[in-house]
Amino acid sequence: MTEHHSDVRLHAVQADITTLRMDAIVNAANSSLLGGGGVDGAIHRAAGPELVHECRLLGGCKTGEAKATKAYRLPAKCIIHTVGPVWRGGSNGETALLASCYRRAIDIAAARGLASIAFPAISTGIYGYPLALAAGTAVATVRNALLTAPSLREVLFCCFSADDLAHYQALLEP
Ligand code: ADP
Repeated sequence: MTEHHSDVRLHAVQADITTLRMDAIVNAANSSLLGGGGVDGAIHRAAGPELVHECRLLGGCKTGEAKATKAYRLPAKCIIHTVGPVWRGGSNGETALLASCYRRAIDIAAARGLASIAFPAISTGIYGYPLALAAGTAVATVRNALLTAPSLREVLFCCFSADDLAHYQALLEP
């Protein structure tokens, strides 16, 4: 543990992630990386058609992995696309795969020397992962991954609903 880890700001907000002026926003994509519903659709619409052109060159992404692109018309500097697991009852490796999404995204941000990153609640929409379980894994994994990401100063958990925000806030209370 070095000094800079102690002052990383970890907090939750209720917002549309496409509006956030962060170094990186994370997209809960599907394995094609060619766009979809939910936050993925919102990000592609707001970033503009250049995003799907770049994504086509990436050759998809496996569940639990992450790949970065430019952010085009978004105020963020880059987009880190990750593919969360579909919830199939919880005994199919979902927790490890979800943790891997957060870990890989932080690793990419750290490798690029980024200072700020915002995450949506990966897998908790169309993919059906229970929010309370997903939020616990998200917060624990990010806290741990930050130990090896010295450039990061701010991590936002971007919640779409007030209910989701309340769950994250409870987890983040000191
Ligand atoms: P997944 O397929 O990984 O479940 P979804 O996009 O369906 O992805 O849902 C993931 C989370 O993103 C859900 O909590 C959903 O409410 C939220 N979400 C949807 N649109 C946005 C947005 N514009 N900004 C932030 N979060 C969003």
